[in-house]
Amino acid sequence: MSIARQLYQLQEVDLEIESNEQTLRRLVSQLGENREIVEAQTKLTSEQRRLDELKHQQHSAEWEIDDLVSKVTAAEEQLYSGRIKNPKELTNLQHEVDILKAKRDQMENRALEIMDQVESTEASVAAKSSELNRLETEWHRRQQQLSTDIETLKSKLSDLGHKRQLISAEVDPQAVVVYDKLRQQKGQAVAKVEQGICRGCRISLPFSGLQQVRSGNLVQCGSCGRILFLP
Ligand SMILES: [Zn+2]
Repeated sequence: MSIARQLYQLQEVDLEIESNEQTLRRLVSQLGENREIVEAQTKLTSEQRRLDELKHQQHSAEWEIDDLVSKVTAAEEQLYSGRIKNPKELTNLQHEVDILKAKRDQMENRALEIMDQVESTEASVAAKSSELNRLETEWHRRQQQLSTDIETLKSKLSDLGHKRQLISAEVDPQAVVVYDKLRQQKGQAVAKVEQGICRGCRISLPFSGLQQVRSGNLVQCGSCGRILFLP
């Protein structure tokens, strides 16, 4: 096998290692990522606080209504007891009863409004809570999948590392040095020659260069410096 072909095979393995390493880094960075859950948790907490506050308002309104109802009862009891004879005093008392009743009605309407809000907020809390559950379940499933994928990739990379060792052990060490240096500089060290053109830089090779490549020698492109490989 020509050196160029060996180096080309080495490069195929290196590119595969590189791509798998990239995937591995991406997966590792996703591990433990839980921004979505934190956001959903924050929304739920704030909705729960709103619900608590509304329930507190609801109780206050109910107490106030109870208080107004007993005041109305007491005032009416006095009004119709017959104990008060003075017409002016009776008129004043009647007026007071009317004011209390108006306040009571107003408070009852307010309590109904709050009750509506409590109901809709309870529904919203339930929806947010089930959304959080869904995200958490999905998150656990995803984390498990990620761990499995990461293990698979690690084992694949270990196999590829092995394969690389086997291939590079067979290649002339000097050629591997040239290859490694080019890999560092250009990312791709070996370029295919197709229709007399270096695929690394897309420049036509001179006839003499082409002849050398055909002979199986280690030839670098005069233009981009890559090792030329004739498939
Ligand atoms: Zn070239």
